[in-house]
Amino acid sequence: MFSIGLTGGIGSGKTTVADMFAAHGVAIIDSDVIAHRITAPGGVAMPLIESAFGPEFVAADGSMDRAKMRARVFTDPAAKAQLESITHPLIRAESERQRSEAPGAYHIVVVPLLIEAGARARHVDRILVVDCPVETQIERVIQRNGFEREQVEAIIARQATREARLAAADDVVVNDCAATLEKLQREVDVLHGRYIEMAARASKPRS
Ligand code: ADP
Repeated sequence: MFSIGLTGGIGSGKTTVADMFAAHGVAIIDSDVIAHRITAPGGVAMPLIESAFGPEFVAADGSMDRAKMRARVFTDPAAKAQLESITHPLIRAESERQRSEAPGAYHIVVVPLLIEAGARARHVDRILVVDCPVETQIERVIQRNGFEREQVEAIIARQATREARLAAADDVVVNDCAATLEKLQREVDVLHGRYIEMAARASKPRS
């Protein structure tokens, strides 16, 4: 199964681009969505999180208390490692399940930290980077999440640099402040056509 790893910094436009591929019927496997689901009420990670961190990290509705957990792991690397040792294997397993069942010629795996994790470890055939200047990222995330500028800068500082992502990219979609959604859509349409061709070529046995 031909697999595209879609990545980019926070606020670069990964979700926006992924939605445009999804409109073509492409299966989107998003590790953030999976992470959210396993820590939602009744999520498979919740009993493990409760026994590792205590009931105070479980909100009244049975989901993970995200604000509390964010504050905890931000200041405590051991807690961060412990949380990840619970969630990462579950995310990987669910991601693999979705990939094995994905219909269509190819699928897209959205991995915000693809570069940081090492693309090879993710078993993707190609890396598509959504690129934009850091200042644009900051403005979008302030707008979208209502975060403080310092908070966004701290998140960006912990992610791979723009240069590192571009160096690892096979394909790039430029989504800077001049990029309209129409332009983005046209680029996605072209890439979609190319990916279908590549997937067909990859699935043919070599003669
Ligand atoms: P990511 O998933 O990489 O964090 P999003 O796709 O959520 O980024 O984009 C961040 C924010 O910026 C969202 O609110 C989105 O609607 C907006 N946005 C992204 N690209 C554009 C664009 N080309 N034009 C206008 N708004 C955009």
